Amino acid sequence: MVYRDIVYEAKDGIARILHNRPATRNAENVTLLDEMDAALAAANADDGVRVIVIGGAGDHFSSGHDVIEAQKLRPNLTVEERWFHERKFYYDYALRIWDCPKPTIAAVQGACIAGGFMVANMCDLIVAADNAFFSDPVCYTMGAAAVELLVHPWVVGNRQAKELLFTGRRIGAAEAQQWGMVNKVVPLGDFDAEVETLARHIAAAPPFALAMVKRSINRKMDMQGFRASLEAHFDLHQLSHVSETFMARKREGRRNTIDSNRDLKV
Ligand code: ZN
Repeated sequence: MVYRDIVYEAKDGIARILHNRPATRNAENVTLLDEMDAALAAANADDGVRVIVIGGAGDHFSSGHDVIEAQKLRPNLTVEERWFHERKFYYDYALRIWDCPKPTIAAVQGACIAGGFMVANMCDLIVAADNAFFSDPVCYTMGAAAVELLVHPWVVGNRQAKELLFTGRRIGAAEAQQWGMVNKVVPLGDFDAEVETLARHIAAAPPFALAMVKRSINRKMDMQGFRASLEAHFDLHQLSHVSETFMARKREGRRNTIDSNRDLKV
């Protein structure tokens, strides 16, 4: 398969899936999300692949869903159309990363925002460069109930999740590590090498045992209500898309949203 908006390579037991739209800070448009899902399936089907790294080409991981493209191509979705669109591209695709039986590592440098943050949080481990920052400003600046798949409280705890959603602010790499969201913070200069070292180390582990350990931890979260809470949030998120505030912010234009996101510093 030839990819346009991602880079996919698999060698020495490591598959790399990179967002590849650096001119838009790797905004996730429909093509990119389709390709990422196809690449994930390819990595899963390839017996030679032991570990999957999801990252971004260029300076950033991802600025999130491509809201400019959405405004242009899908300006007036009905409730029904939006439900199915977001279910497929945002919810189901993201959960497939979570459910992928092979270990996954998010390699995050620069911006990791909203939909991009959701993708990174779907991975088992996160390695961050020291310039990385994470934010979900969707509630604060767009007036919608966070991203489609509310994984944050499961990753950072309820109090921190409320802070990051209520303020929309950027969480720097060091703080993200303190919060338990990031496994390792490394200087930007060593970033690729450190990700490679960790991926190689995990790739050498027995694959079946790894898959069973992952399955066990994910199942523990399901028993605690993980999947049921995600389902409940998705429907609330859809409700927030037809709220007066969301509609008004949408009429102001998505350039405005992006500009207000930029104002939300650490
Ligand atoms: Zn949405």
